[in-house]
Amino acid sequence: MAKRDYYEVLGVDKNATPEELKKAYRKLALQYHPDRNPGDKEAEEKFKEAAEAYDVLSNPEKKARYDQFGPAAFDGSAGGGMNMNDIFSQFGDLFSDFFGGGGGFGGGFRGFGGFGGAQQGHRRAATRGSNLRIKVKLTLEEIEKGCEKKIKVAKYVPCKTCNGTGSRNNNYETCPHCHGTGVVTEVRRTILGQMQTQSVCPNCGGEGRIIKDKCHDCNGEGIVRSEEVITINIPAGVYDGMQLSMSGKGNAAPRGGVPGDLIILVEEIPHDLFERQETNLYYNAFITFAQAAMGASIEIPTLSGRVKVKIDAGTPSGKVLRLKGKGLPDVNGYGRGDLLVSVNVWIPKNLSREEKETLTRLDKSPNFQPSPSKSERGFFDKMKDLFN
Ligand SMILES: [Zn+2]
Ligand SMILES: [Zn+2]
Repeated sequence: MAKRDYYEVLGVDKNATPEELKKAYRKLALQYHPDRNPGDKEAEEKFKEAAEAYDVLSNPEKKARYDQFGPAAFDGSAGGGMNMNDIFSQFGDLFSDFFGGGGGFGGGFRGFGGFGGAQQGHRRAATRGSNLRIKVKLTLEEIEKGCEKKIKVAKYVPCKTCNGTGSRNNNYETCPHCHGTGVVTEVRRTILGQMQTQSVCPNCGGEGRIIKDKCHDCNGEGIVRSEEVITINIPAGVYDGMQLSMSGKGNAAPRGGVPGDLIILVEEIPHDLFERQETNLYYNAFITFAQAAMGASIEIPTLSGRVKVKIDAGTPSGKVLRLKGKGLPDVNGYGRGDLLVSVNVWIPKNLSREEKETLTRLDKSPNFQPSPSKSERGFFDKMKDLFN
C-alpha cells in the first residue's frame, strides 16, 4: 500500500511548528474518531494514518529521519505499526486541554468501544501495554512537603471474563499465514536498495496462533476499558513540567503482555503570594514609612507558617532580605532554597489635610533631605545588590 506523505496527511507544510502539528492532528483525530464514525472503515484508516503521521512528525528524531529518507525510513517500524491502543494513549496529552485537564483522560474518552482494526485480526504483536499519561496539579504547599495523590484514571485493564487471554475457551489454532512463527519475510525495493525485511505477521499479530472463540466481553483483546484509582507518591521539590513515571501502572497489554507505565506530568498551580524560581521563592513585603525609618519587627508568610523578621532602622525600599532555607527542597535532595523578601515602602495615596500638614512640617527637617550613599546613587550597583 502506497503511503501518503505525512505532511500531506496532516495538511501542514514542512516548517510547521509543534503547535501547528498538534492542532492539525487534533482536528483530524476528532473528525475521524471511531466513536463518531462507527463501522466506517475509511474513517478508521484515516484516523490511523493521521495518528501515524503525527507520531513521526511530532518526534524531532523521527521527523529528521523522515525528512531525509521519506517513508522508507520507517519500513517495518512506525509504518502501519501503531495499534489503536497506542493511538489512544497519545490522547492524554493531546486532549487534556479540551476536557479540562487534571486527572486521567478528563473523562472524554471513557468507555471507548471496540478496537476497530482488531476485529479483522490485523494487529501488531503487543507484548507491552501502552504508556498512560496524566497531569497532576500541585500547590506549592504540596510540593514543599511532597504528597500522596489518589487519581482516578481511565485505562485498559485485563478482561475478567477471559482472564486476559482473549479466548473464550482456550481454543487456538496455528496461524496459517506464518505457520506459527509470528513473522513474515518480505523482499522489497527501497531507495536504499533491495532489502529483506522481517515483519510481524499481520494475520496473527505476531502471536503465531489465532483464537478460535473470541471472548465476547473484550472481543478477543484480553483487555477492556475501565477505571482505576491510583495512589501516586509525589516527592518533595518537584517542578512544573517534570515527568514522573510509575512502572507497570499504565495500560494493560493485550492478551497477557507486560503493562505499560504511568507517566505523570507535574503542573504547578501558581501561588497567591510567592513566585518560584527553581528552589527559591520570592515574596513582596510592604512596610510603612515609619517602619522603614525607625525599624520594626514584621511578620512574613512562608509555606510553613508565618515568621518574624526584623526590619533595620533606615531600611530603603527595594531592599531584599534572604530567609535561609525557607524556600523549597531540591527534588534530588541537594539542600533547600531560600525565601527572598523584597521590602517595599508603602506610599499612601490619599492624604487628609491634617496628614498633609504633618508631612509638610517633617519635609522641612534636614534629616528628611535625600543624601544617598554612593551605592544608592548607582542604579546598576543596586541591581547587583538584588541578585547577591
Ligand atoms: Zn475477555
Ligand atoms: Zn501469523
